[in-house]
Amino acid sequence: MNEKEKGLRYTTTVDLDVAGMYAEERCKHCSGRGILSTQVSSGGTIRKDKAVEHRVDYCSCVRKNVRKYG
Ligand SMILES: [Zn+2]
Repeated sequence: MNEKEKGLRYTTTVDLDVAGMYAEERCKHCSGRGILSTQVSSGGTIRKDKAVEHRVDYCSCVRKNVRKYG
């Protein structure tokens, strides 16, 4: 694995400090947490016999404020 390849990969890692800093306090999507989590499985639907993946992403209010103040 080289560094270039690593950098191009999509990451679901979020920085909670950053999320909290830029989140809008009264955001109706994230309630001021700045993060949203969704459950997905490889097949697209959630089934008991399939592994469920938690994906965490910044809320849109965080993205907006990062662009504004970033
Ligand atoms: Zn939000």
